[in-house]
This record gives sequence, C-alpha cells and structure tokens, in this order.
Amino acid sequence: MPASRRKFIKSLSAGAVLLAIPSVIGGQERSSKPVASAAAAGQSYPDFDVIVVGAGASGFPAAMAAARNGANVALLEEDQVPGGAPVDMYVTYLCGGPVAGFYKDFITELSNYHTLGGVPSATFNPVAGKDSSGARWWQPSSYVQVIKQIIDNHNSSNAAQITLICNARVTGVIVDGQVDGKSRVRGVQAVIDDAAATINGKVVIDATGIGEVAEKAGCEVMFGVDAMSDFNEPIGSDTAQQKIMPCTWMFITHRSRKGGVLPFFAGNSDSGAKLLYGGCIEDREGWIEDASYIARDSGTYAHWGIGLNGVDTRNTADVGRAQSEMFKKITDRGDLDLIRSAGFEIEFAPKIGIRECRRIRGEFVMTVNELGIVGTPYYNDGFVPHDMIAEASYYIDAWGMDPPIDDVYKKTTPYGIPYRSLIPLHVEGLLTAGRIISGTHLAMSSYRVQPIAASIGYGAGTAAAMAALNYDGVVRSVDGAALKQKLSGEGFFSNRTVNENK
Ligand SMILES: Cc1cc2nc3c(=O)[nH]c(=O)nc-3n(C[C@H](O)[C@H](O)[C@H](O)COP(=O)(O)OP(=O)(O)OC[C@H]3O[C@@H](n4cnc5c(N)ncnc54)[C@H](O)[C@@H]3O)c2cc1C
Repeated sequence: MPASRRKFIKSLSAGAVLLAIPSVIGGQERSSKPVASAAAAGQSYPDFDVIVVGAGASGFPAAMAAARNGANVALLEEDQVPGGAPVDMYVTYLCGGPVAGFYKDFITELSNYHTLGGVPSATFNPVAGKDSSGARWWQPSSYVQVIKQIIDNHNSSNAAQITLICNARVTGVIVDGQVDGKSRVRGVQAVIDDAAATINGKVVIDATGIGEVAEKAGCEVMFGVDAMSDFNEPIGSDTAQQKIMPCTWMFITHRSRKGGVLPFFAGNSDSGAKLLYGGCIEDREGWIEDASYIARDSGTYAHWGIGLNGVDTRNTADVGRAQSEMFKKITDRGDLDLIRSAGFEIEFAPKIGIRECRRIRGEFVMTVNELGIVGTPYYNDGFVPHDMIAEASYYIDAWGMDPPIDDVYKKTTPYGIPYRSLIPLHVEGLLTAGRIISGTHLAMSSYRVQPIAASIGYGAGTAAAMAALNYDGVVRSVDGAALKQKLSGEGFFSNRTVNENK
C-alpha cells in the first residue's frame, strides 16, 4: 500500500480499534455490528445521537463529521448505495470551491486511485479540486467505493460508529413535545427493506436535497423564484414565480467499438462550435469544445444529456412523468442511435438530475447580498458571519432565470454560510444540509455545488454532534462562534483564494 494512501486512511481514523466488517444483507449495506442484524430483521433499532437522512454530497460528510466528533450516527439512504447526485444522477463533475477539509481528502483519494483512464494525474491540485487540464470527474462506482471505504475505515478504528442503512426511505419524523415553543424532532419514520421502522435520534439532519423530511417536520418551505422585494435583493424577478431550474438527465458513454469516435452535433452552441447536445466532458481533458478530443482518443464521456423545464420536483409522480418525456425527446431527437452507431454505449443515470426543489426557511436567509455581488456591502471583503460553518465560492448559476441575470452581477465574492441558515424556523432538533438550506433561489444557485454542499454537510454534522452530546440535541444551544472556531481549526476556511466566480 503506498505511503500516501496509508496516511490518508490513518487520517480518517483515530482512537480505539473495533472490528466492523461490512456485509450485504438483503440488498442493504450494513455494518456487521449487532445493531445491523436487528435492523436486517426489520425489528428494532438502538437510539442514535445523530440521524442523517440522505448519503449524498452533503449527507456523507455530515455523517463523517458527527462520528468524528463522537456521535453514533445512522446514515439513511433510499438508494441501494450511498453517494447521492454523483452516483444516482451522474453529476460526477465538480464546480466551485473551496475544496477544503474532509472533502479535499475525499477528492484526493478519488484522484489518486480512481482517475479515469487509470493514470493518476501528475498535476492534480487537491485545493483546486482539478488538474491542470481542468478535469475533475470520476465514475459513479468510484464514488461508491471510496465512500464505503472511508466509512469502513472510520468504523474499524473508532468507538463512535456510522451505521449506513441503504434501501431506507424516510417517510416522516417523530415529533415529541416542544422546546421554547418549537416542535421537537426526536427521530424519523422510515421504510427499510419494505418494512416500517422507527428510529430515534437526538438530532436529525435533512440532507435529502429535496427537503421532504423538513417539510414533514412542519418547517417553512420556500420554492421557486423569489421576488426581489421578498428579501431585499438588488437583482432578480419583480414577481415571485413557482418556477425552478430545469431538470437534466445525465448519461455517460463508453466506447464499445474499437476506433469509435464520439460524434459531434452541429450548430447548437452560441459560438458556432460543434458541441454535443447539452455539452460533455472527456475523461481527463475537460470540456469537449473542438475536435482535438479525437486525437486524445479518450473512451468515456459524461453528458449533460437532456433538459426539461417545468417539473414539479416536490411531486414524485411529476418527476416520473418528466423522465418518460425526456426519454421520448432524446430518442426522437436521434441522439441515442447516433451515439450507438458511432460505437459507444450509453448509460443513463438511474435518476433524472434535480437541480432544485424545496428550500427550508431558517433563522437566517442567504441572499445575493451575502454573496457579495457588485454594488452590495460585502463586495470587497466578503460575508464572514460570526457563526460561519462553510466557506463558499461560486458564481450565480441560476439556469432558466427570467429575466436573465446580467454577467456583471453573477460574480460573487467568497462568502461564508452561517450556522443559522441550517436551523429551520419553528422546529428544534433538526438541521438542514446541502442545497436545501435557507436561502433565496439566486443564492442557492451558487452554494448548491458539491464542494460547498459537502462543507455545509460537514458543518452540520459537527454542530449536530455538539448538540447531541452536550445539549440533548437542542441545536440552538450550540454556540455558533465556537463552531466556527472549531471548523476553522480543522482547516475549513484556510483557502479564500480559490475563486471560480464569473
Ligand atoms: C443535472 C445537474 C447538474 C449539476 N452539475 C453540477 C456540477 O457540474 N458540479 C457540481 O459541483 N454540482 C452540480 N450539481 C449540483 C449538485 O450535484 C447538487 O446540488 C448537490 O449534489 C446537492 O447535494 P445534497 O447533499 O443536497 O443532495 P444529493 O447529493 O442529491 O443527496 C441527497 C441524497 O438523499 C437521498 N434521499 C432523498 N430523499 C430521501 C429519503 N426520503 N430518505 C432517504 N434518502 C433520501 C437521495 O437518494 C440522495 O442520495 C448539479 C446538479 C444537477 C441535478
């Protein structure tokens, strides 16, 4: 085993050694600890300190952070494997930054041992999250493998465990009493392997990307485009619109016939360059913008396959209808036959890509003012709140915005995300993580990207452990300034130079 790999694995673990051999039981991934056996039988579960719902871009880091800080964690995922968007929607490409703390280690592991084409990139820069060519994507299966490996490594060396339960769809929350007039969440209801289950936890984190759990807990839901006047934003729409960013069904192609060349489609880019519909990236060389990719002779490509507006992503029936409509559109368009006849196989993502769903209103609402766009108070120095749990740097990337945002207003200054935006109004014992945290449509279009979602998740997990172990799960008792200081000490805010803003 190379020294750097050993070092990485070691850095993921500390403390007492407990053996927990992963096993597959009834199609679910579980730890082999006794709790898991009980779970497999559809019986009972122990009480957890922290329950994280959703093992995606923010949920996996949230679970890691909570466990590293001493909490016993249940990580519940409705899919058969963990990973979220990179795995079930094939959003395998990273945007934004900074790539910091735990996420930097995660990406470094992917880059060192899972580089597409089998050759680790000599120029990979973990801080930027890419190599000199701009390439930064990995196969969905690599994400699954690395996530599972990191969880197993943690569990084998630490008393505080992460119990990953897949095929576990959370359907509701347990609300028991009130704290300071707020409904107290104390666990979740779920369907696990087709059996109803109740799982108690001191803190629940909604990291579902769709905010369904928080809505069921009685949280205030925001959806669609806000009116500028709603949150005093200087740009945007005059009126609120029940309209969200389009869904996109991603796919990956692999060459299956020797000498096959991925075809170009003419005339679908503003510049007149010939791009594949929706755009696509090569394995190690980034975006395909001209025919030079043919000389590089790659064999695998990630495609922004086909988009659709007007999907109500809160409604699973509408999402299903959209998937059928997208399949018909892309088949009728002829893309699939063309790609196949060029000697490539097409793998559709298991789920269509949902860019936006519910946003959960919290104690603080992030707006473009905090993002520091031109003309706002934070433009020069950036928004650095006293309770900062994540640092973010990405431009305003609001697909389908009407009226469109002028380029000059898209650029943001690196900004901080406050703990308060993870604490939903009216509810106690619940935190949000990832793209559903409290912010406007335009603010969310910036911080929704994976490195930032991961940092938000890590902050949420750290806070949840502090609440569970010190304050019986009351998340408002966590001192935001202490949280910020702790995360800062762990290297989360060390790099304010990575700025992908446009
Ligand atoms: C088409 C598309 C393109 C994108 N392009 C990029 C890009 O190029 N770069 C980039 O960095 N980001 C990109 N993004 C954004 C990014 O992928 C997401 O915003 C990010 O993954 C959000 O993280 P999350 O943890 O909030 O949600 P997710 O990563 O979606 O994770 C949520 C998890 O919760 C699970 N879940 C949901 N409901 C339940 C339930 N009731 N019970 C149990 N589990 C549940 C889901 O199965 C999933 O695993 C793109 C997104 C889309 C859709």
